[in-house]
Amino acid sequence: MTEIGKHDALVLLTQAAFIPRLSYFLRTSLGPSQQKSDEFNNELRMGFQKIFNVFFDDKGWKQAILPVNMGGLGLGVVAELAPSAFLSSAAATAALQDKILPMDVAYQDDLRLETFRRWCTVYGDIMDINVCSQKKSNEPSLNVSKSKLEKLNDSPSDKARLMAVRSELGSAWLRAIPSTACGIRLDNGSIRVSLCLRLGLPVVSGYRCLCGADVSQLGHHGLSCRLSSGRQARHSAMNDYICKLFQKADIPAVKEPAGLLSESNFRPDGYTLVPWSQGCCLSWDVTFPHTLAERYINYTAMEQGSAAVKAADFKNTKYKDLNDNTRVFVPICVEIFGPVDKQTQLFFDNIATKIVEKSGDPNDKIYIKQNISLLLQKFNSFCILENIAKCPSVRDPEYCLLSRGEMI
Ligand SMILES: [Zn+2]
Repeated sequence: MTEIGKHDALVLLTQAAFIPRLSYFLRTSLGPSQQKSDEFNNELRMGFQKIFNVFFDDKGWKQAILPVNMGGLGLGVVAELAPSAFLSSAAATAALQDKILPMDVAYQDDLRLETFRRWCTVYGDIMDINVCSQKKSNEPSLNVSKSKLEKLNDSPSDKARLMAVRSELGSAWLRAIPSTACGIRLDNGSIRVSLCLRLGLPVVSGYRCLCGADVSQLGHHGLSCRLSSGRQARHSAMNDYICKLFQKADIPAVKEPAGLLSESNFRPDGYTLVPWSQGCCLSWDVTFPHTLAERYINYTAMEQGSAAVKAADFKNTKYKDLNDNTRVFVPICVEIFGPVDKQTQLFFDNIATKIVEKSGDPNDKIYIKQNISLLLQKFNSFCILENIAKCPSVRDPEYCLLSRGEMI
């Protein structure tokens, strides 16, 4: 795994190795002892750190083992999943076992009953023994892990990050199959930064940015530094991608049309040349609000997507004159950690439906989400790494010593 690209390694580890490989074993036996399970988890943690060049603190690891839709990486914990896997498999095969076993002998599956009793001791008498769905059996254990993680992440910044990375666009990149030809392979540096941002792990050593701000180990400053050129590049890349989506849907569109608003100099990012819906052409404007920015953090720590909603309100006011009998304006607001507002969600759903109608491939809907999610990761990483490269002490190592008042 250390020899191959990190994006490929991540997909193999999370989707093909470890827990997926153990599923059959866990469903057909009681699983390994606690000691073996701990050894296995420790091995997984050390291996992950070595392959991706990251360091897991307890908080980060507790998040990594959760499923992707809970903000983790889906690595799982053998000891916690083993009883649920065994019980669901036993329930699903109970009818078949009854047919196989002799009809005239009363048979009682003591192993199953004992496992169920122990499961109820831990999680309470909340599930029927005949539940066949492993997902449902896993729920109580995962909810306990999720509550523990939320208790550890009680700062507004951690709360907002945890909620944001659970969003569809915050997680879709983890399910994408890397492909260089399709432009959906992240380089090694981007994978490391993306993992760290998702799990709240240190990305950089602390340093002073060119703009004078002190950058913490989490590296978030690079995402919003006023000297960053990555933000403009991200905006252009997203606008290009939206134009590409219109092309795929056979809807001609132009970028940054002039003269749409006669009484102001504002120019939206694009405009369709044929009606989008109900005879109205659509104009759009893209923005990427920072989920953890100071002006949003009190809102995003309370509710997922609040920064996108505020940004959408601002855009709707700015371009209100683009809503009339023949035109409709849509803000496209994607928070840099993934969440979107309702209007943006509806826009992506509608254009994906139009593309699927044309291509006939329902997977196009999934690919669109994955592409946008990967675009976010790519440019978040770019912004952070570019910020470090611009740092005066990196460009001129002597600056670092001089800035601390030391003699060279
Ligand atoms: Zn800066």
